[in-house]
Amino acid sequence: MLPPQYTSPAHQILHSVFGYDSFRLQQDEIIEQLAQGGEALVLMPTGGGKSLCYQIPALLREGVGIVVSPLIALMQDQVSALRQVGVRAAFLNSTLNADEVREVETAMRRGELDLLYVAPERLLMPRMQTLMQESKLALFAIDEAHCVSQWGHDFRPEYIQLSVLHERFPNVPRIALTATADAPTRREIIQRLALQEARVFVSGFDRPNIRYRIMENQGNAREELLRFIRNEHEGDAGIVYCLSRKRVDETAAWLGSKGLKALPYHAGMSNEQRQQHQTRFLREDGVIIVATIAFGMGIDKPDVRFVAHLNLPKSLESYYQETGRAGRDGLPANAWMIYGLQDVITLRQMQENADTDEAHKRIERHKLDAMLGFCELTSCRRQALLRYFDDALEKPCGNCDTCLEPPVTWDATVAAQKALSCVHRTGQRFGVNYVVDVLLGKDDERIQRFGHDQVSTFGIGKELAQDEWRHLFRQLISHGLLSVDIEAHGSLRLTDASRPVLRGEQALPLRKFVKTSKARTKSQKGSSHNLKQDDANLWEALRTLRTQLADQQGVPAYVIFHDATLMEMVERQPQGLAQLATISGIGERKLDAYGEAFLTVLQQHQRQASGAVSDTAAETLQLFQQGMDAAAIAKQRELSIATVYNHLAMAIERGDVSVQAVTGLPASEITMLRTAIEQYEEAGRLKPVFDAMQGEYDYNILRCVKAAMLSE
Ligand code: ADP
Ligand code: ZN
Repeated sequence: MLPPQYTSPAHQILHSVFGYDSFRLQQDEIIEQLAQGGEALVLMPTGGGKSLCYQIPALLREGVGIVVSPLIALMQDQVSALRQVGVRAAFLNSTLNADEVREVETAMRRGELDLLYVAPERLLMPRMQTLMQESKLALFAIDEAHCVSQWGHDFRPEYIQLSVLHERFPNVPRIALTATADAPTRREIIQRLALQEARVFVSGFDRPNIRYRIMENQGNAREELLRFIRNEHEGDAGIVYCLSRKRVDETAAWLGSKGLKALPYHAGMSNEQRQQHQTRFLREDGVIIVATIAFGMGIDKPDVRFVAHLNLPKSLESYYQETGRAGRDGLPANAWMIYGLQDVITLRQMQENADTDEAHKRIERHKLDAMLGFCELTSCRRQALLRYFDDALEKPCGNCDTCLEPPVTWDATVAAQKALSCVHRTGQRFGVNYVVDVLLGKDDERIQRFGHDQVSTFGIGKELAQDEWRHLFRQLISHGLLSVDIEAHGSLRLTDASRPVLRGEQALPLRKFVKTSKARTKSQKGSSHNLKQDDANLWEALRTLRTQLADQQGVPAYVIFHDATLMEMVERQPQGLAQLATISGIGERKLDAYGEAFLTVLQQHQRQASGAVSDTAAETLQLFQQGMDAAAIAKQRELSIATVYNHLAMAIERGDVSVQAVTGLPASEITMLRTAIEQYEEAGRLKPVFDAMQGEYDYNILRCVKAAMLSE
């Protein structure tokens, strides 16, 4: 019998098909809305789980669900993933030949499809329209709905015409979904797609598993990047963004020379090559893509563990979108960025040079200011980022660099005054390096030729070192107190905003310069790097099996199982099919197809771990009897806590130690747990017991009580 939470049809599908226990965010309400024939506009952050919002209703309703998506390159993988769980899915796009197209069409007419993925331009063709007229339709899902917005950078003209769907098929409910929509874009989607009747579901923008970190470029960006990858992301998949094609090529080659699997991706490469690199990134474990922003739109690879920026994005919108490609699976991920003075100057210049009218420039300037302000923040980055999107986070997040290691600030007013007046005294005709040399009183032929060794600011800045001055100038430019003149080769100019500072009317508390060698933020290792050695071996063995299975079928590894699913196997080490079935991400179909293979690996590992049963389990017991608790034993022996409890449970079962001693629970609670196990345990699965206890007792405790019951 199913536990009560699986009683609704939607829950049943969630559980038996997709292998998940509970809905996330507003998934269940959205599914309900569609299942009833209502319409919806869904704003959910990347990784929030938008796909299930139309996949499950399509399964619940009669007919085929039509999914409109601009991402042709990904359709194949999306369809593979669905077929893996037993959903009858197909796609129609330009990569199919005539026979393949006919096959899909026939299946659709016969009602043998649950979901069909189509590119927007094809959807509007007469042949497709006829096909849809002749088939039973469950719903329309319009993915990446922000592509309808003419203001956004993902605008697709075909999207505008999607409003005809509603006119031609007024009784087929629609759901539009996006991860990037501010209020104006949202209004535009509603208006252009005629979604006035749709219920709007907004889930907020937070991506709590992403750690935001920004560091200063002190001329060693590449080395810092390499250090970051080696320390924290060995063997992980990641994306590195650069501004120019040249820098992409150089960086990829350099990382490659250091032994990393790094591939370039930019618009200057041939189509085939780009395609090939993208495919390797999706299919192989641990590939790093080095790319211009041309890469990434709609990459729904769930296990991208880091996104690194070697250049500043031009707005917070871009930053949010690009960093958002990390950690879709919800496991810890890093958004790492390094930026410096030159970035600020280049972006300011590009923007002023842009071929647009003044109104547009003003908007762009405003966006860049927000981006720069974000970099210079001394408070929580996540709070600021969410505030920018009108989403509130009450407390500092505890998972960004400024939260983890609050930056030191100092009163930079006097130094700023010196810097600004030196710009003034030298005639606002020189760049940062020259002005810094004057402040430091350098013995320099050029300075003497211009007579700047005679100005009052010559040599008044010796209290700061050269890189500290550069740091300050970057901040002054970031904060808009200085502007950079493009026509005059990057010479600095005072702005109106600098006057109050010069007059001493405005104080400037700024981030203090810290040499990067000291400024390394607490590292966050990818999820697999925290494993104890014996667990790490199991993790590798499970990944190897996954790769084999994926290769056999020509699908990406994550289509077989996500990292999160493998990680749960490592943590819980199930020893039977029933136990395996309780792991998140394993539905009925995948249990059938892969259960035995993964169990074999798990059991083999277990045997090895207890191979020297006598020895290793006996050692655990001995330490326990000397007064160490399970956690201390795990630490000392470098075993996982689950393994230690396994050893202790065996000892309980043999009667060598009491369950009270191991669990530290009073007899009354043990009795209660025994009753619960008798009542809720199903076919050896402790999960229903765990759930019935609302997670108050972890599996280790339950296993020990179970062992005590077996010992009688
Ligand atoms: P989005 O399209 O919103 O970026 P996806 O639909 O690709 O997100 O989902 C992100 C990941 O989360 C996928 O791997 C998906 O399988 C998983 N997921 C979605 N809903 C749930 C859920 N209710 N429980 C567990 N995992 C889920
Ligand atoms: Zn924070």
